[in-house]
Amino acid sequence: MYCKQCGAENNDNAKFCSECGAELVHVTQPGKFTGPAGDTQGKSTAEVALGFGIASVVFLSFGIGALISIACGIVGLILASSAKKAGFNGGIYTGALVCSIIGVVGGAGVFLASLVFIGTISSLVRWIFSFT
Ligand SMILES: [Zn+2]
Repeated sequence: MYCKQCGAENNDNAKFCSECGAELVHVTQPGKFTGPAGDTQGKSTAEVALGFGIASVVFLSFGIGALISIACGIVGLILASSAKKAGFNGGIYTGALVCSIIGVVGGAGVFLASLVFIGTISSLVRWIFSFT
Protein backbone atom coordinates (compact mmCIF):
# COMPACT_ATOMS: atom_id res chain seq x y z
CA MET A 1 0.00 0.00 0.00
CA TYR A 2 0.97 3.63 -0.44
CA CYS A 3 1.54 6.21 2.28
CA LYS A 4 -1.08 8.97 2.31
CA GLN A 5 1.48 11.49 3.57
CA CYS A 6 4.45 11.02 1.24
CA GLY A 7 3.24 8.48 -1.33
CA ALA A 8 5.98 5.93 -0.56
CA GLU A 9 5.20 2.28 -1.19
CA ASN A 10 4.98 0.21 1.98
CA ASN A 11 4.36 -3.37 2.97
CA ASP A 12 0.63 -4.15 2.93
CA ASN A 13 0.53 -5.03 6.65
CA ALA A 14 2.87 -2.24 7.80
CA LYS A 15 1.38 0.06 10.44
CA PHE A 16 3.71 3.00 9.87
CA CYS A 17 5.35 4.42 6.76
CA SER A 18 9.00 3.42 6.33
CA GLU A 19 9.77 6.78 4.69
CA CYS A 20 8.07 9.41 6.84
CA GLY A 21 6.77 7.43 9.85
CA ALA A 22 3.14 8.47 9.29
CA GLU A 23 0.45 6.03 10.38
CA LEU A 24 -0.78 4.01 7.42
CA VAL A 25 -4.53 3.94 6.95
CA HIS A 26 -5.68 0.71 5.38
CA VAL A 27 -8.10 1.67 2.66
CA THR A 28 -10.51 -1.11 1.74
CA GLN A 29 -11.85 0.70 -1.34
CA PRO A 30 -8.98 1.53 -3.72
CA GLY A 31 -11.22 4.02 -5.58
CA LYS A 32 -11.51 6.20 -2.48
CA PHE A 33 -7.77 6.83 -2.39
CA THR A 34 -7.01 10.48 -3.13
CA GLY A 35 -3.36 10.88 -3.87
CA PRO A 36 -1.55 13.75 -5.58
CA ALA A 37 -3.25 12.80 -8.89
CA GLY A 38 -6.71 13.26 -7.36
CA ASP A 39 -5.73 16.63 -5.94
CA THR A 40 -4.45 17.84 -9.33
CA GLN A 41 -7.66 16.72 -11.04
CA GLY A 42 -9.74 18.37 -8.31
CA LYS A 43 -7.71 21.55 -8.60
CA SER A 44 -8.20 21.87 -12.36
CA THR A 45 -11.93 21.14 -11.90
CA ALA A 46 -12.03 23.85 -9.23
CA GLU A 47 -10.28 26.27 -11.61
CA VAL A 48 -12.90 25.65 -14.31
CA ALA A 49 -15.59 26.03 -11.64
CA LEU A 50 -14.05 29.36 -10.65
CA GLY A 51 -14.14 30.44 -14.31
CA PHE A 52 -17.87 29.68 -14.49
CA GLY A 53 -18.39 31.33 -11.10
CA ILE A 54 -16.66 34.55 -12.25
CA ALA A 55 -18.60 34.44 -15.54
CA SER A 56 -21.86 34.14 -13.58
CA VAL A 57 -20.96 37.29 -11.63
CA VAL A 58 -19.79 39.13 -14.79
CA PHE A 59 -23.01 38.32 -16.69
CA LEU A 60 -25.09 39.48 -13.73
CA SER A 61 -27.14 42.14 -15.50
CA PHE A 62 -30.69 43.08 -16.32
CA GLY A 63 -32.75 40.78 -18.58
CA ILE A 64 -31.20 37.85 -20.44
CA GLY A 65 -27.80 38.28 -18.75
CA ALA A 66 -29.40 37.12 -15.50
CA LEU A 67 -30.32 33.78 -17.15
CA ILE A 68 -26.74 33.31 -18.41
CA SER A 69 -25.62 34.17 -14.89
CA ILE A 70 -27.86 31.49 -13.33
CA ALA A 71 -26.71 28.89 -15.90
CA CYS A 72 -23.00 29.65 -15.34
CA GLY A 73 -23.52 29.67 -11.58
CA ILE A 74 -25.19 26.24 -11.62
CA VAL A 75 -22.37 24.79 -13.76
CA GLY A 76 -19.89 26.41 -11.35
CA LEU A 77 -21.61 24.84 -8.34
CA ILE A 78 -21.68 21.37 -9.94
CA LEU A 79 -17.98 21.57 -10.89
CA ALA A 80 -17.03 22.94 -7.47
CA SER A 81 -18.78 20.05 -5.70
CA SER A 82 -17.08 17.50 -7.98
CA ALA A 83 -13.73 19.20 -7.23
CA LYS A 84 -14.46 18.73 -3.53
CA LYS A 85 -15.33 15.08 -4.14
CA ALA A 86 -11.97 14.71 -5.94
CA GLY A 87 -10.31 15.84 -2.70
CA PHE A 88 -9.71 19.51 -3.50
CA ASN A 89 -11.21 22.14 -1.21
CA GLY A 90 -8.62 24.93 -1.28
CA GLY A 91 -9.05 28.65 -1.89
CA ILE A 92 -9.99 28.20 -5.56
CA TYR A 93 -12.83 25.86 -4.52
CA THR A 94 -14.11 28.39 -1.96
CA GLY A 95 -13.86 31.21 -4.51
CA ALA A 96 -15.72 29.17 -7.13
CA LEU A 97 -18.43 28.27 -4.61
CA VAL A 98 -18.90 31.89 -3.44
CA CYS A 99 -18.92 33.32 -7.01
CA SER A 100 -21.36 30.64 -8.22
CA ILE A 101 -23.75 31.22 -5.31
CA ILE A 102 -23.63 35.00 -5.95
CA GLY A 103 -24.31 34.30 -9.65
CA VAL A 104 -27.28 31.96 -9.02
CA VAL A 105 -28.90 33.94 -6.20
CA GLY A 106 -28.14 37.33 -7.79
CA GLY A 107 -29.23 36.10 -11.22
CA ALA A 108 -32.53 34.79 -9.83
CA GLY A 109 -33.15 38.06 -7.99
CA VAL A 110 -32.29 40.25 -10.98
CA PHE A 111 -34.36 38.06 -13.32
CA LEU A 112 -37.41 38.28 -11.04
CA ALA A 113 -36.87 42.03 -10.76
CA SER A 114 -36.80 42.29 -14.58
CA LEU A 115 -40.03 40.29 -14.81
CA VAL A 116 -41.71 42.60 -12.30
CA PHE A 117 -40.30 45.61 -14.16
CA ILE A 118 -41.53 44.36 -17.56
CA GLY A 119 -44.91 43.51 -15.98
CA THR A 120 -45.19 47.00 -14.49
CA ILE A 121 -44.24 48.69 -17.79
CA SER A 122 -46.71 46.62 -19.83
CA SER A 123 -49.58 47.21 -17.38
CA LEU A 124 -48.68 50.93 -17.35
CA VAL A 125 -48.78 50.97 -21.17
CA ARG A 126 -52.15 49.17 -21.11
CA TRP A 127 -53.44 51.66 -18.50
CA ILE A 128 -52.36 54.64 -20.66
CA PHE A 129 -53.92 53.11 -23.79
CA SER A 130 -57.20 52.49 -21.92
CA PHE A 131 -57.80 56.27 -21.98
CA THR A 132 -57.41 56.62 -25.73
ZN1 LIG B 1 5.15 8.23 4.23
